[in-house]
Amino acid sequence: MSSIDIRTHTAIHVVKGALQKILGVKWTASVYTAGTHGGIAVQCNKKPTDEEMYNVEILSNEIIKQDLNTIVHEIQKIDAEKKWGDAIYDLFPIPQDITVLKIFELPGWNINTCNKQHTKKTGEIGKIKIQKTRFRAQKQLLEISFDLID
Ligand SMILES: [Zn+2]
Repeated sequence: MSSIDIRTHTAIHVVKGALQKILGVKWTASVYTAGTHGGIAVQCNKKPTDEEMYNVEILSNEIIKQDLNTIVHEIQKIDAEKKWGDAIYDLFPIPQDITVLKIFELPGWNINTCNKQHTKKTGEIGKIKIQKTRFRAQKQLLEISFDLID
């Protein structure tokens, strides 16, 4: 991953935490990064208001500004499930034969199985701007894309 992709990817974890706090969503359906552009789709049962999405952006940027330490745990799957339950999982499954998980944690904000690279501190991300929000009622999916801005 390029250093820009690492920043954008770490931002996805921050945005996910904000979506959890503001909209009460739980499950991530997909994520992507392409340079400074990133996206996340989460399972959601209603279309968020403009104000809610504005707050997702504000809250994400606050967490970035707080320059929090990120943690990566390498832990037996069975122990991780005991500790965090299904909060570490996404809608896309982890291969059955994997017994040790890499878990990304932003304490108090986001916890998620993830084997990608991350910034050491949230401040390295910079700043995000949400570009597009699309609610797909039939699929019960909320798709958000954002850019890193300076
Ligand atoms: Zn990650």
